[in-house]
Amino acid sequence: MENQYEVLRQECLSCQKCPLAQTRNHVVFGAGVPNAEVVFIGEGPGENEDLQGQPFVGRGGALLDKYLQAVDLSREKNIYITNMVKCRPPQNRDPHPDEVANCIGYLSRQLEIIRPKIIVCLGRIAANALIEKGFKVTKQHGQWFEKNGVFMMGTFHPAALLRNPHNKPDAFEDMLALQKKIREICDHTYDGTEL
Ligand code: URA
Repeated sequence: MENQYEVLRQECLSCQKCPLAQTRNHVVFGAGVPNAEVVFIGEGPGENEDLQGQPFVGRGGALLDKYLQAVDLSREKNIYITNMVKCRPPQNRDPHPDEVANCIGYLSRQLEIIRPKIIVCLGRIAANALIEKGFKVTKQHGQWFEKNGVFMMGTFHPAALLRNPHNKPDAFEDMLALQKKIREICDHTYDGTEL
């Protein structure tokens, strides 16, 4: 499993499938534990992520880490985080549909290797691609969708929460709903620790 993951990571790190390869500093493949039962999926790397090669390391990432910590989750301990596209779109624009289409194979293979029980889509781009087209985060955040035995939820993107802090209480509720679902269906995410 670790080997499959490493083979895929190396392939992704040298990807030249789309024009984002020309402007990137680093491919941002993903981070977290290989046996994660919960996977978070964002949109694409921003400036800090592109410079460091790690997902969610800017201000949005710091906010995300706080929400995760509140429900005893962290990328060091029990979750995995990645993005729809692995290279930074210039000026942080939305990734183009063809860029998403070119990149989605990496995400599919990551998910085949990790086989999470729960996927949390951070923001509109991931929720539209993975849950349903036309997904409205403000209306449908926190709802569970079951697809092929995997529970999926869309919630606010941390960058959107920095712009619109009035949504923070709703985002926190979503994390509590996630915590409840983890307790119901996950085997080792909380490793027997009760919060
Ligand atoms: N925004 C994202 O969607 N992903 C990152 O990794 C960083 C910012």
